[in-house]
Amino acid sequence: MKWVNHLAIAGSTTALVSPALVPVALLGSTAPDWLEWVLKALGKPVRHRTVTHYLLGWALLLAFGLGLWDFHGMVAAFAWGGLSHVLADACTVMGVPFSPHSDRRFHLFGGRLRTGGSGEYGVAWGLVAVCLVIAVLFKPHGGSGWYPFFYDWAGLYQSGVIDAKEWKDNRLKFF
Ligand SMILES: [Zn+2]
Repeated sequence: MKWVNHLAIAGSTTALVSPALVPVALLGSTAPDWLEWVLKALGKPVRHRTVTHYLLGWALLLAFGLGLWDFHGMVAAFAWGGLSHVLADACTVMGVPFSPHSDRRFHLFGGRLRTGGSGEYGVAWGLVAVCLVIAVLFKPHGGSGWYPFFYDWAGLYQSGVIDAKEWKDNRLKFF
């Protein structure tokens, strides 16, 4: 699946729960792919959609972040990004491996989407639309006017949640 769709899925779902963690989730949502480049750079090339795309691995990391140890929710957000990537890839014809111990490819919804096809855009942006509707329905009344999807980057930077320079350097690399 295309990165723009992975980013849309992870970003919109995370914005509903915790807008501050969206950048971390975005990083995680592309991790299964860029980790392949990292491994290659380290001299350990892996085949596409194998080691870094184990459904079980990302699910366990998410469980770990939610249940055992986390740092400001970052582990969970990163893992959710990765898991959403693998789940989205599972909707494509190629599927994803479930764990190192199974050769079977895991498919969701029949695995009919084609990478780059219009179907994956429909799924990803349909989900964004659903998240927007939920966000509007649950919009808090009064108060600071906090609103998912229009979070305050400057505020995040001041509170130290994100490193502004790092974000600026990296945000364009996703596309
Ligand atoms: Zn992938």
